[in-house]
Amino acid sequence: MLYIGCHLSASKGYAEMGRQAVGMGANTFAFFTRNPRGGSAKQADMADVGKYLEIAEKHDFGKLVAHAPYTMNPCSADEKTRRFSRQAMAEDIKKMEFTPNNYYNFHPGCHVNQGVEVGIQFIAEQLNEVLTAEQTTVVLLETMAGKGSEIGRNFEEIGEIMERVEHQEKLGVCFDTCHVWDSGYDIVNNLDGVLENFDKIIGIKRIKAIHLNDSKNPCGSHKDRHECIGKGQIGADALIKIINRPEFRGIPIILETPNDIDGYAREIKFLRENYNG
Ligand code: FE
Ligand code: FE
Ligand code: ZN
Repeated sequence: MLYIGCHLSASKGYAEMGRQAVGMGANTFAFFTRNPRGGSAKQADMADVGKYLEIAEKHDFGKLVAHAPYTMNPCSADEKTRRFSRQAMAEDIKKMEFTPNNYYNFHPGCHVNQGVEVGIQFIAEQLNEVLTAEQTTVVLLETMAGKGSEIGRNFEEIGEIMERVEHQEKLGVCFDTCHVWDSGYDIVNNLDGVLENFDKIIGIKRIKAIHLNDSKNPCGSHKDRHECIGKGQIGADALIKIINRPEFRGIPIILETPNDIDGYAREIKFLRENYNG
C-alpha cells in the first residue's frame, strides 16, 4: 500500500483535512500543529477529532506526519527560545494523543555560532526532557539541507542526537529528499550507497516517513528550495525509485512541493501510477 499525501491547512480542523485528503487521492497528510511561524496551539475539538478518526478508518489512512512550527529552535543560544521549544513540543505531543499512533516531525534547529556539539547536546536534552514512555506518538528528526548553521546536515549529526536520547522507541527520522540531496547525498546516481550509509550510521528502519520533494538546486548546494516532482534537479525517475524501495514500504510519503491542491492531486496520481507495490 502506498500511503501518500501532502501538507494541508489545519485551520478548519481534522475532519476537513481528512475529507480534503480523500478528495485528492491521498491516504495520509501533514499539517502544522500550530501556526508555523507563531506561538500557541488551538485546543482540539473532540467532535471534529471523532469525525476525522472515522474518515481515516474508512479510507485506511496511513500514519499522519504532523510538523512542528518553524519557530521551534531546540538548540538556540537563547534560553527563552529553548524554553518555548520545549513547551511547544511537550504541548504538541500531548495534543497528538487525540489522534494516537502518528508521527510528529521537527527540525533539529540552528546552532548559530555555538558549534555543532553544543547544538546536538541541547537537542538531545530537549528530547530527554519532553519524551515520555506513555506517549503513542513517535517524534521524527528531519534530515536538513545544511543551510546556515542547521544541525542535521548529515546522517552523523542526526545519529549523534539520537544516541543521546533515552526513549529510543519514541524516536525516528523523516527523510526529506530535497534536503538530503541539497546536503550533498547523491540520491540520483548512488541511492544504494546513500541508504547503505544511512543504515550503517543510524539504521534504515529508523526512517519512519519521507518528505518527497524535488530540488531547484544541484546536489550539495545547501539551499533548501523545493521543486515540484520531476521539475527539479533530482527528477521524477529518482523519486519514483525512492517510493518503490522495499525498505520504505508502508511508510507515509508527504509532498512538500510548491503546489496548490490540484497540483498535489496530480502529483499523487502520477506517483500512484508509478508505484509497483
Ligand atoms: Fe520540515
Ligand atoms: Fe521537509
Ligand atoms: Zn525544506
